[in-house]
This record gives sequence, C-alpha cells and structure tokens, in this order.
Amino acid sequence: MSTHEFEIPARELDAAGKSFTFPVRAAWLRGILEDNQATAAGPDGVLEIRASKSGTDVVVTGSLKAELTSPCGRCLTPTDIHVAQQITALYVPAKEIKGSTGLDDEYEFAAEEADMLPFDGDTVILDEFVRDELILEIPMIPLCSEDCAGMSPSPDAGRDTSGAPSSALEDEEASIDPRLLPLLRLKKQTERKKE
Ligand SMILES: [Zn+2]
Repeated sequence: MSTHEFEIPARELDAAGKSFTFPVRAAWLRGILEDNQATAAGPDGVLEIRASKSGTDVVVTGSLKAELTSPCGRCLTPTDIHVAQQITALYVPAKEIKGSTGLDDEYEFAAEEADMLPFDGDTVILDEFVRDELILEIPMIPLCSEDCAGMSPSPDAGRDTSGAPSSALEDEEASIDPRLLPLLRLKKQTERKKE
C-alpha cells in the first residue's frame, strides 16, 4: 500500500499547530472493516484534527466521526453505529523509540497522556490509528435496542424481509388469486363503511 488516507507532512507543522480536515471515505471504511460485521452506513465520515510539533514529536488531537451499520446481535436488523470520538495521539520518530531502550522513563509520561505511535520523522500517517479507533468504537454485540427480544417468532419472518409486521389485509391478499384482489379490496372498503 503506497497511498494513505490521512497524511500530514511533519515539516509543515510548528508548535502552534495546524488544522486538518479529512473525509473518512465510505469506500475506505468498507475496506478496513472487511473482516468485521460492521461496515459503512453510506455517507463519508470526517476526521478533524489539529497537529502540532513538540520537539521532533507530533501531537495530534481532534475528533473522528463516522456512520457505521452492523446487524443487531440478537435479531440481525441493520443497526446504526454513530462514531463521534475524541482522539489524541503522539507521534514519535521511530528511530527515537528504538533508541530509547533503557531510557523508557522519558516517554512514560507521554505514553500515559496519549497513544504513542511511531512515524518516519517526515510524514505522519494516521490510517492505522484511525482504523483502531473506529474498531474500538464498534460494540462487541451491537443491539438495535437495549430490550431487543431477538428473532421474531412470526412464521412470516422468512418471507417478509422488510421486518415490518404485515397487516391482516396483506396476509389475506397473499393467499388469494391476484386477479381477485380488486374485489377483495372493494369488499373491505364496503365493510369499513358499514362500521
Ligand atoms: Zn435487535
């Protein structure tokens, strides 16, 4: 993979920081969630961040928003997952992380403050970080509602893919010769007028 979704050139940054807004493309979401039950709900998400230099490190803070969908863990109804996550990360040049063996104390404080991630010293690539944050936000068992009762026991469940309960009229129509449907509807209408 040579291209990345979320790249920040470190040389453009200073201590004051700079704002970046990236679309979180639905196609990219589908790609990273390939092995997940959840996927993009449709619209692109958005990653709004501020990045600043702290010595050779890059501090990234901001928010990540995305609309995902996953089958309900009990009834399989597609369920919306709204991701609106505050994010913080500290990017440290990879050679400094390696060189800090034995000097871990220096980074202990920083690692507690934020997720500490390596970068090549030139370009901060946020793809993996964004992916991890998204996957963390997906519930283990997404539920369409807290009190979801699970699969509907209705015998129509297999036929009625919309999940909407079918009316008595529709049930009657399903079992009747389609040519007689106008007559049936007329009969129902006259019955209702009588009531
Ligand atoms: Zn459910």
